[in-house]
Amino acid sequence: MAEVLVAAWAANKLTYEMLTLARGLGEVSVVVLGGPGGDIADNLAEYGASKIYLAEDEALDGYLVAPKAEVLAGLVKEHSPAAVLLPGTQEGKEIAGRLAVLLDNGVLADVTGLDAEGVATQTIFAGGTLVTSKVTKGIPLVTVKPNSLTPTPAPATAERVSVAVSVSDAAKQVTVNKRVTEPKGDRPELAEASIVVSGGRGVGTAEQFSVIEEFADLLGAAVGASRAATDGGLYPHKFQVGQTGVTVSPQLYVAAGISGAIQHRAGMQTSKTIVAVNKDDGAPIFEIADFGVVGDLFDVLPQAGEEIKKR
Ligand code: FAD
Repeated sequence: MAEVLVAAWAANKLTYEMLTLARGLGEVSVVVLGGPGGDIADNLAEYGASKIYLAEDEALDGYLVAPKAEVLAGLVKEHSPAAVLLPGTQEGKEIAGRLAVLLDNGVLADVTGLDAEGVATQTIFAGGTLVTSKVTKGIPLVTVKPNSLTPTPAPATAERVSVAVSVSDAAKQVTVNKRVTEPKGDRPELAEASIVVSGGRGVGTAEQFSVIEEFADLLGAAVGASRAATDGGLYPHKFQVGQTGVTVSPQLYVAAGISGAIQHRAGMQTSKTIVAVNKDDGAPIFEIADFGVVGDLFDVLPQAGEEIKKR
């Protein structure tokens, strides 16, 4: 049976989605990039990984994407897997691009399905259109779009294999500085949260984003933002929802002060229930909202919050 290589660095829903997809293609091996990988090995085996390559080296934690691409390229050359699956996150896509160059291979992004013949289903045009594609050079090298599959467990016994990590000087040119702008709090992971409350340009300022955070905390929700909000410095970029940000598919998505541009919708339109708060009754977000409130978010969210507190 062909070996399918999955690249992972966390035991989260997207990793389990990749493992579920990979199981339909062959024998699943996971390479855990960064350490300590052993901590998540049992979780990976629960979703069908039969071999786990542990690439534990501080070079993989301390530098940006280039070392991860080099380690993956080495494994692909050594094992010739039938396909390589990477997370469809910003980091995963950057690694995939570099890996494609190192291997002189094609790459497919935002994949939602892949068959044993290597034919991938991809979303394009901000999620508006589905196409099927196949790489014509090399093996299927794909980034898997978050929240596009239902992860299902398939417990396996996983063999653990240590991988020697050797990183070129060129890959060490860019280092990660300690991030100092992380919002405080213990909120759920944005891509996996069952409730997301997002704010847009209508929130106005970074200080005023606390109205979004407070409402999110009442619901036990993750906080998201539109690109206008992240580009405008209202909230950190890693919380951007949309075509060029995180794809979410929660049970409940609250969009406050967000107009509903197609690129924003691309990252949230599969949410089960969408609630929009906007003071413009013609805002496009109302076209996809299940519940809409026309009003000032600085009135609506605190009032709704008071009602939630009473329950
Ligand atoms: P606006 O469109 O300015 O809307 C602000 C809204 O707030 C308005 O509807 C206004 O009525 C409302 N408002 C103002 N004050 C209040 C108030 N007090 N109470 C209630 N409502 C209020 N965007 C994304 O979000 N994610 C992406 O990933 C993304 N990727 C992109 C990729 C490309 C290639 C391009 C070209 C664009 C992308 N964009 C993305 C940008 C997108 O086109 C929009 O510009 C952006 O989504 C607008 O953000 P917004 O809705 O917050 O701002």
